[in-house]
Amino acid sequence: MDWTRGHIIGHGSTAAVWAAKSRFSGEVFAVKSVELSKSQLLQKEQKTLSELSSPYIVSYKGYDITKENDKLMFNLMMEYMPDGTLIDENRKQGGRINEPLIGYYTKQIVQGLEYVHSRSIAHCDIKGQNILLGKTGAKIADFGCARWIDPADRGGDAKSMGGTPMFMAPEVARGEEHGCSADIWGLGCTIIEMATGGSPWTNVTNAASLLYKIAFSGKSPEIPKFLSLQARDFLSKCLIRDAKERWSAKQLLKHPFLEESDLNSAANQDFVTSSPTSILDQDIWNSVEESETTILQTVSSPLQRVRELGSNSRELNWRWNDDHRWITVRRSNE
Ligand code: ATP
Repeated sequence: MDWTRGHIIGHGSTAAVWAAKSRFSGEVFAVKSVELSKSQLLQKEQKTLSELSSPYIVSYKGYDITKENDKLMFNLMMEYMPDGTLIDENRKQGGRINEPLIGYYTKQIVQGLEYVHSRSIAHCDIKGQNILLGKTGAKIADFGCARWIDPADRGGDAKSMGGTPMFMAPEVARGEEHGCSADIWGLGCTIIEMATGGSPWTNVTNAASLLYKIAFSGKSPEIPKFLSLQARDFLSKCLIRDAKERWSAKQLLKHPFLEESDLNSAANQDFVTSSPTSILDQDIWNSVEESETTILQTVSSPLQRVRELGSNSRELNWRWNDDHRWITVRRSNE
């Protein structure tokens, strides 16, 4: 695919993520890039993501190697998620996401986890920052820590510690074997993040004491008292310290908290942030129009659709300045 790189949309510990656009179709997508010589993790993520296809997982769009400023870059292309992360959503909602919306996002995350776990993959880094939002709600992203697990053993076979300390399950913090059930613990922590806008563990001063607390204190993160009985019960099933007793994604999907969480009905649409389809996003198209007029001339129907949407478009958040210009990227074989 021949494409151009746009502006940076996110930074993680291993890579940066840019908006990008296909020169052929005009489709906007996200590209996670890192220097080829340091791309081992990203290549692993590419392999995992390429095996997955679910409405609850950020879609894989391919990969390539480009030469930019005399450096070889490894690029993982993915669906562009226009509405940021769960953390961004929390900020937009004033620090607390309301319970029906928590239920809505949680159901989608659990559906994503159920799919991933059924394919013997554990994500190993479930947290608000890795849940991306778009028109259809929440999708799981960042499979950089994901690992294959032995399907015969739900507890998993991996001992190596990975992920983000604040969201680590006790068995991970202790360096024991762990697998899919550690994702469920991460989910519990993510729900607390959504509900409180804060960390699942409070009063911890450094990573070592945090890990010690998670591993050996015998405690689970405090469940917010203001949540409904059902939500609290759901959380308690995610935050069972014994991994073997912790509920699976399949079990959680049958929990009343999720069974009754159906924001897809028209009556509840207000809870969900409205957002146009990524490729039709008014902000994106406005930006694209500025820099790629030739392509727009050949792509008339989406543009027409965008113009129809124009009257109720959102505030621009796709900003441009001299530092964020599109630059041309060529395929490695050109
Ligand atoms: P970590 O530090 O968690 O390992 P990372 O280096 O693996 O992070 P990602 O978490 O994949 O990087 O991405 C970093 C940020 O980029 C995300 O938090 C998000 O803000 C943004 N981002 C990633 N993928 C997309 C996407 N497909 N669409 C829109 N934004 C994205």
